[in-house]
Amino acid sequence: MTEYGEAAERLMGKALITGDGQMLKDIKMLMDTRDAAREEGRIEGIGALEDMVWQFAYKNDKGQIHTGGLSVLENAFDVLDWDEPHNAPDSMLCDEPGCKQFISCGFPTESGYRRTCGKHYVVAERLKEKGK
Ligand SMILES: [Zn+2]
Repeated sequence: MTEYGEAAERLMGKALITGDGQMLKDIKMLMDTRDAAREEGRIEGIGALEDMVWQFAYKNDKGQIHTGGLSVLENAFDVLDWDEPHNAPDSMLCDEPGCKQFISCGFPTESGYRRTCGKHYVVAERLKEKGK
């Protein structure tokens, strides 16, 4: 959790103990505003940071990225408030059912455009060569 998240939780705890309803509302409003800004990519640099992390973080075969213990990536995950490993959206993964590899190829087929990992690109090419 980020320092912001930890500070907000501490304040939330104090507000609950003291029963300060206005403080609770204020903290909730601050957290909601921050969450909305994150979702809309309005926090300066967050979108660019996410793009860099997706490009440079280590990828595994479970559809996740991780820091590999690199402190710069650990810091970026902290800023983004992402757990490690972080799950990739399905749109970044091979379209072969059950495959959790990241997309590395895109190619037209008779049934539509496919986006697959290298292994399933080769399989699809071999099937095409056999005329299947
Ligand atoms: Zn695949």
